[in-house]
Amino acid sequence: SDGGAEADVVEAGKGKPPVTPDSVVNLDHGDPTMYEEFWRATGDCATIVIPGWQTMSYFSDLSGVCWFVEPGFEHQVRRLHRLVGNAMVDGYHLLVGTGSTQLFQAALYALSPAEDGSPINVVSPAPYYSSYPSVTNFLNSALYRWGGDANTFDGDTCIELVCSPNNPDGGIRKAVIKSKSSKAIHDFAYYWPQYTPITEAASHDIMLFTVSKCTGHAGTRLGWALVKDKEVAQKMIKFIELNTIGVSKDSQLRAAKIIKAVCDGYELSSYGDASRLFHFARHKMAARWNRLRLAVEASGIFTLPDELPGHCSFSNDTIISNPPFAWLRYKKDDVEDLEGFLREQKIITRGGTRFGVDGKVVRVSMVDTDEAFDVFVNRLVSLK
Ligand code: PMP
Repeated sequence: SDGGAEADVVEAGKGKPPVTPDSVVNLDHGDPTMYEEFWRATGDCATIVIPGWQTMSYFSDLSGVCWFVEPGFEHQVRRLHRLVGNAMVDGYHLLVGTGSTQLFQAALYALSPAEDGSPINVVSPAPYYSSYPSVTNFLNSALYRWGGDANTFDGDTCIELVCSPNNPDGGIRKAVIKSKSSKAIHDFAYYWPQYTPITEAASHDIMLFTVSKCTGHAGTRLGWALVKDKEVAQKMIKFIELNTIGVSKDSQLRAAKIIKAVCDGYELSSYGDASRLFHFARHKMAARWNRLRLAVEASGIFTLPDELPGHCSFSNDTIISNPPFAWLRYKKDDVEDLEGFLREQKIITRGGTRFGVDGKVVRVSMVDTDEAFDVFVNRLVSLK
């Protein structure tokens, strides 16, 4: 050490490198940096300070079903669902996870049959979220294994992953597997009013949510599950106990404060329009989708999924959906690998084969920074 005083503040990492008009633009991940603008403008309403002596114990709530859920976090999450009306919360157990990714694995563990035998198949209709096969198979579990496209699955029993709105193509989905012995996990990462009309308070057996795509705080690594059945909830809790001995309290306190700020923005009249998260994000997404559709039209070599209109009970008006990803398809015959073709243009996307379909389609994040989105759209217009 040089003996000099340390700075007072521990600086946060800078994240991805800045985008310039001729640099590589990486829209492979759905990194929700679009939301930074909103949270910069809200002042201190979502800031927390944690003294050195706080959040030291492993335990949060020994009186509840889930001992590692912070009561303040649970309270704000239930409040948020009542405000938005996207999911039933009464009669549900609320579990917290290190991202909804951990809860997805906990749910697979909880739904796998107890008796020994061959692993249960895990399926989802193609195009399916690319993490589903990799997360399901990476430990080579004896309990479950990836079974592929749910539309062509011909076995008896399986676990179906229902992602709605769907990553990557934005489709609104219901479970397709009808067999009574099968189970569904509903992944509602994007069932929020900035992305899609809220059409019902969902009430499925297991519903997964995440702050990553709701408020944009992916780095907080916090998700939650609404679980109807107590035994299933207890098995999921056991998974998280063995996997990470609970979930960061610091993250839960931060997420609670953030979600509180979102709810206050709508429920306290002293807050102005600038504090309405879903309005900010919906407006932003709609503007981006308009620009993208114009660029695709100008270019003439791509197609996008059709617009999906619907009545939104949250905003009480008819809106069109603004999916978090563009599912961009190449129309002509001279390119089979669209991901590779766009990489030559210094646009990084994720190709269709990762989602169980062909390579003439790619997934492009719509929730990155303005700079990255601008560069992407401008490059797209110039492709003929
Ligand atoms: N489900 C879907 C459909 C997603 O797109 C994502 C994030 N890309 C996740 C789950 C995982 O979210 P988390 O950051 O909470 O682990």
